[in-house]
Order: sequence, then structure tokens, then C-alpha cells
Amino acid sequence: MSTIYSTQTVAQRFFAIALVALGLTLVEFVFKGNSAWGADHFDCFDAARCGSRSLSSSAVCLRNRDYTITSTPRNSQVVVLSIHGGAIEPMTSTITQMLTQQYGWSRYDFNAHGTAQCLGQRSNFETLHITAAQFDDPDAIALVNRHLKAISIHGAGDLLRETICVGGRDQAQIQAFIKFIQHHQDKSPYLIQPINAPKSDDKACTALRGIDLLNIVNRNAHRAGLQLELSRSMRQDLVKQTAEAQALRQVVYGAINAAISIQ
Ligand SMILES: [Zn+2]
Repeated sequence: MSTIYSTQTVAQRFFAIALVALGLTLVEFVFKGNSAWGADHFDCFDAARCGSRSLSSSAVCLRNRDYTITSTPRNSQVVVLSIHGGAIEPMTSTITQMLTQQYGWSRYDFNAHGTAQCLGQRSNFETLHITAAQFDDPDAIALVNRHLKAISIHGAGDLLRETICVGGRDQAQIQAFIKFIQHHQDKSPYLIQPINAPKSDDKACTALRGIDLLNIVNRNAHRAGLQLELSRSMRQDLVKQTAEAQALRQVVYGAINAAISIQ
């Protein structure tokens, strides 16, 4: 009798240990990072130091405190992205907001507003800028992948006011964008200089070609998107509430819409 009892106890203990182990594994799986089901992403944040830790599992920079992600799917063939939004490349979030309101496109916005706990002495750009080719939020990839067409709005601080580096893998869209600007220059408050980034040797745009297949803008259903790099001044001009700003928007946003509308 006592032998049977002790065998049952051993079996029960094994069962209990197995249950605890399974429980711990589940807890680790569910609570690892902020992302759903624990998939790590955003590996190369914090001044592009890759490999050691990821933003999605960081205990220093927290989603909804230091950055906000807004994914707004709509019944549209087009998704517009501001992956360096908020304080990383200022005004890009506002510009994608305006575009989605005007044209009814889906939108994905990564909006940085880092606290001192996250940033320390660094800027939002230095800490929370994840390059477009390393931008691997599974929700962003899935959203872009569901759309035929994708546009990404970026800011490049070094550009001259009038310069736009027009990049991405969709060369037909790039050319349509540039053509529209050229045909509507007379309506713009100043001359805009769009540069075909993948085809040009202009130094201003060589690092901003956006042709990497892993660039989030090229992860749409066609595997080719349109990437615009805008100067800080032009971004400021585009969001003003003046007649001049309205005229500039008609040319620049009109060119985006014309490019994205070609079949
Ligand atoms: Zn950018």
C-alpha cells in the first residue's frame, strides 16, 4: 500500500513540475517585450547599434510612452508611411495625416516622443530612428504587404529647401511624380527640384535612393514603392495654413497622387 502511495506521489510531483515549467515558458512567451506574442523586432535602434537588444523588448524605451504606433487600414490600394514620424523627422507624421485625409489611403505612423528616461542625452533621431531597411515591425510589414502601392514620407535635414529626392523601386512612379512637378511648377510658390534618386549621381540623393528590397516601402504587393525625402523647410511649408502652403500642397501632394495613380 505504501509503495503504491509513494509511486503516485512521484508521478504527481513530475506532473506538477511539468506544469510549472510549461507555465513559466508561457509567461515568458507572452510577456517578452511589448509586441504581440513576443516576436522581437526593431533590432537596430539606439544610434543604430544592432544586435544586442531590440526596441520592442527594451525596458528603457517604451511603446506608448516614448513612441506611438498608429496603423490605420482603409479600403484602399495605397498605404502611406511615416516610419520616422513625431520628433525623428519632424512634420512627416502631419504630412502623412494630411495625405490620408485627402486621398483616403491607409496609413502607418511611427511617432517618436522619447522621454528623458529613454533618450538620456540623445535626440529622438539618434535613439529611435530605425532605418527603413531594418524597419521590421510585423504589423507594418503585414499592412504594407496587403497593399498594391506604398509611399513613404521622410525628412532629410541636409537638403536644400527646394530639393526632393524621389526614390524607391517603382521607377515609373518616380518619373510620373517628377513629370507632374515639372508640368505644374507655375502653380508652386517656388521652383521645386525633384531628383530621380536611383538614377542620379547628385550627391544630395545618393544615400537616399530607397531601392533596398527590404526597405519597408518596397514590401508592398508589387515589391516596389515610392519614397520621398523632403527638406526641413519644405516640410514646414507643407503644413502651414497659408495660401502659399495650399498652392505648394496642390503641386507636391498632387504629384504624389498622380504618381500613385498610374497603372
Ligand atoms: Zn527617414
